[in-house]
Amino acid sequence: MSLLNKIFGHKNKPITIEELQKALKNREFVFYYQPEWDLKTNRAIGVEALMRWESPKRGYVPPMEFIPLLEESGIIHDFTYFLFDETLSALSELHKIDPSLFMAVNLSVSQLRENDLITTIQKNLEAHNIDPKCLECEFTESQELTDEILSNGVLDKLADLQIPVSIDDFGTGYSSFERLKQMNVRKLKIDLSFIRTLMEDEKNKSIVASMIKLGHDLGFPVLAEGVETTEQQEWLKQNGCDFAQGYWFSRALPLDQLKPFLSENLKK
Ligand code: C2E
Ligand code: CA
Ligand code: CA
Repeated sequence: MSLLNKIFGHKNKPITIEELQKALKNREFVFYYQPEWDLKTNRAIGVEALMRWESPKRGYVPPMEFIPLLEESGIIHDFTYFLFDETLSALSELHKIDPSLFMAVNLSVSQLRENDLITTIQKNLEAHNIDPKCLECEFTESQELTDEILSNGVLDKLADLQIPVSIDDFGTGYSSFERLKQMNVRKLKIDLSFIRTLMEDEKNKSIVASMIKLGHDLGFPVLAEGVETTEQQEWLKQNGCDFAQGYWFSRALPLDQLKPFLSENLKK
């Protein structure tokens, strides 16, 4: 069998739990960081940690292909510790450039259910000497998430620690306005599907304008995800969107490339 056959043969095999355990132990999971931008000042304000699996056998594996399995298998618990250790260590490096930068991390519903989630966060904030206000937890909008958040009180615990929370993929889930109002949330992130079609017609623009207004009426700043063009960026700025993220500003970068990129942007 040729080397290419071996590689592609492996790629098609289903991912196993043992493989993921080994990947965690061998530190094959790495984080890339995508800057979030303030549209008014045109400066980076923080970054979002996006996980990558760089498998020696499979090559790059997109997060959505293995995160559900991480969750089902229970390995996600060990992963959660690794996530906070790794990203807060990166943030302490970024604070040498600008101490106001924040680190946003994505948390799934199963991570929310971990009994020791709050302890894990606290331990890592202390270990890396990070102000809780500089960590941000992102939760994807869904019915399951909303129910879980409201029933187990985790949002209140995060609020007690002064850790900001944002609602990810806003517009795709089922949060009622009533529930949204009840949540202790700091930011709404409009899903990139709305931004992708933004400039196509007036209806799409009306939808995004309404989402910005809804966020503001509820007292939340609003971020647009997946901004790829100058036109989208300008429209969002003119329509009062506070923050943005997307390839137009920067792709997610490994820490060693992120540091010079942010230094350059923030020295202006
Ligand atoms: P997300 O949290 O909505 O992350 C945004 C996704 O959009 C990322 O994909 C990012 O690379 C991509 N993106 C950013 N800007 C643009 C753009 O301008 N155009 C387009 N087309 N795409 C853009 P990625 O890295 O593949 O992540 C996919 C999803 O995997 C994330 O969606 C998040 O839900 C999940 N994920 C990633 N890392 C983690 C993690 O550490 N934990 C958990 N629980 N989920 C994670
Ligand atoms: Ca996210
Ligand atoms: Ca998102």
